[in-house]
Amino acid sequence: MDAMTDELATLRGKYAGAAAYLDGEFMPLAEAKIPVTHWGYRRSDVTYDVVGVRDGRFFRLDDHIARFRNSMNALHMAPPESDAEIRDILLRLVLLADVRDSYVSMECLRASPAPGALRHPASCRAYLSCSAVPWISVVSAEMEVRGMHLMIPRVKRVPPASFDPRVKNFHWGDLTAGMFEAKDAGADFAVLLDEAGNVTEGPGFNVFHITDGTVVTPARGGLDGITRLSVFELCEELGLKLEVRDVSVEEFVNADEIFACTTAGGIMPATRINGRILGNDVPGPISVRLKETFWNKRAEGWHGTEIL
Ligand code: PLP
Repeated sequence: MDAMTDELATLRGKYAGAAAYLDGEFMPLAEAKIPVTHWGYRRSDVTYDVVGVRDGRFFRLDDHIARFRNSMNALHMAPPESDAEIRDILLRLVLLADVRDSYVSMECLRASPAPGALRHPASCRAYLSCSAVPWISVVSAEMEVRGMHLMIPRVKRVPPASFDPRVKNFHWGDLTAGMFEAKDAGADFAVLLDEAGNVTEGPGFNVFHITDGTVVTPARGGLDGITRLSVFELCEELGLKLEVRDVSVEEFVNADEIFACTTAGGIMPATRINGRILGNDVPGPISVRLKETFWNKRAEGWHGTEIL
């Protein structure tokens, strides 16, 4: 064993499958704690990103870091680490956690103003909190097989003019309310509309629908998802017609097929919307084709970064 692997072997026992980097230091996740006075916690003054690792390989690592940097810039956050340093931190976290299928998150939080300083966000430094834990999926094993059951809740998505949904954030009041509406309706997840009645996104995922063979996704009102971007590339490769535009609720609930997509789950077909059964109550053929192509290509190293 060389010195590096020797050091890692010793450290891995200590990290026990979940490693963190907080404000400049690596530590086991259970030791990563932030002060309750920090605005990251008190005001949800935080942005984040999540990148997936499958079979020891990151998916679109640099795209996630670039989106994270855009989110930090939009919120006037400038932690000391460069993009190249963030990349090294994330790679090291997966090595320390020693999990080949991992959910790797990066967060940037605002601290609190020094005593006597003006209580303005510009008075607070921003710092990073990153972690690698075993893979987490938003869908259960049962939902993977039977398809997601979706519904349209009463609660509307926060308007982009109030907070830009392309800046990944934890202002989840609307999405959380939607999750409870979905639970009360016996569905798995909500898909929120904007004030004009157009489809936006759900709690942690973008949505697509398919009507007469055309794959369609909302142009705005949600995060520019990296899995969504991957679906664009797959449509091109598979010769599927793709449209990115406003999607009315009527069009969405009457679609032939619907699927959601996210880092924490990949492409996830839905089989019900507002109680209506799509197709034969099994994931639709185009959604399944996209899902299978996505995972097959990932297994072949598509947009991958090997960890060791
Ligand atoms: N929309 C929201 C609100 C999300 O939180 C996420 C991911 O967490 C997504 C969409 C999907 O984005 P991505 O595919 O980049 O994971």
